[in-house]
Amino acid sequence: MKAQQDITRVEIGDEFRTCPHCGYDLGFHVSFLREGKRHRIVLICPNCGSRYDPGWRQEF
Ligand SMILES: [Zn+2]
Repeated sequence: MKAQQDITRVEIGDEFRTCPHCGYDLGFHVSFLREGKRHRIVLICPNCGSRYDPGWRQEF
């Protein structure tokens, strides 16, 4: 399923709660993708599974 693999880069404005792909508007699940010593924080739409990258990185 293509939507599960692709990660779309997004800019967070005042609020990011609506999935641009399916219109679901109750917010996102979160996952952490290892990227060297850091993790990318990835938002996942609970309805359609589309993944979004707001550019957040976290070092644990
Ligand atoms: Zn969606």
